[in-house]
Amino acid sequence: WARKAGPGTTRQFDQAMLRALTRRRLLEIDLEEGVRQGQFHVVYQPQVHLQSGQIIGVEALLRWQHPELGPVSPAEFIPIAEESGLIEPLGAFALSEACRTVRGWNLPLRLAVNVSPIQVERGSVIEAVEAALRGSGLPPAQLDLELVESLFLGQADQVAASISHLRGLGCGLALDDFGSGYSSLGYIPRFPFSKIKIDRSFVEHVHEDRGSAAIVRSVVELARGFDITVIAEGIETRAQEEAVRRLGCDIGQGYLYGRPMSGKELLALQHAAA
Ligand code: C2E
Ligand code: MG
Ligand code: MG
Ligand code: MG
Repeated sequence: WARKAGPGTTRQFDQAMLRALTRRRLLEIDLEEGVRQGQFHVVYQPQVHLQSGQIIGVEALLRWQHPELGPVSPAEFIPIAEESGLIEPLGAFALSEACRTVRGWNLPLRLAVNVSPIQVERGSVIEAVEAALRGSGLPPAQLDLELVESLFLGQADQVAASISHLRGLGCGLALDDFGSGYSSLGYIPRFPFSKIKIDRSFVEHVHEDRGSAAIVRSVVELARGFDITVIAEGIETRAQEEAVRRLGCDIGQGYLYGRPMSGKELLALQHAAA
């Protein structure tokens, strides 16, 4: 088909492909050195109690400042880190760094940290969480681990074992990006989730689209039955906030309340609010 499209088109296609491949290859190579050289840091996004408007916690999010390319998005580097296995040291870094920072604030704020399926499937998440808690002195009950849906769809004994071990430590378990993938509710009763985070794609039109509102309402209903807290992700406007609050969500997170920011900025924001 390439020949039919004409030589010009073919060359353009090849160059775009090559550029994408080159960048990916470059990032693969640089990731390892980046981890070793400490090019990663953690930023914090507030989570707000929808009834009171108070900040009740933060989500820790990784950032990579590449020496030549500048900031690289986690949407780009996390999949590469997962493929190469570097997600294990990187995920351990995010956990220990975030626990240390939040412990240092000495405020009654919860901390949520994202955990990759790879860390759970290989079991290394347990040592990473235990080391982060030990090293920081953060009480386990203050920590939520955010896990994605794909982890729960297969038959995986290692997953179930790791999950109940983490729960046994006293950590909370949040189901992240709920509804973005397979949206099967069947696995929810089988795992001890303490929170469900409704994916941004449902929050985006929740104030104007009956379908989105109906989905949010049924997630809230399901969660109530299992005593699970519901977080709405990606709230950008007051109209969205009002809609998810009315539908019964407990917590909101999104640009309306604050972008992911440095620990210092988060602390200043919290002091200004208090
Ligand atoms: P996530 O865990 O679902 O995190 C929420 C993402 O939505 C963040 O993107 C956040 O900046 C963005 N966001 C928050 N509020 C809004 C909003 O109002 N509007 C819009 N448009 N976006 C909003 P970010 O920081 O780029 O992270 C992307 C993803 O990368 C995360 O999605 C998570 O899956 C992954 N990630 C980030 N840090 C880590 C980490 O330490 N470990 C692992 N395994 N994954 C991570
Ligand atoms: Mg998350
Ligand atoms: Mg999410
Ligand atoms: Mg996401």
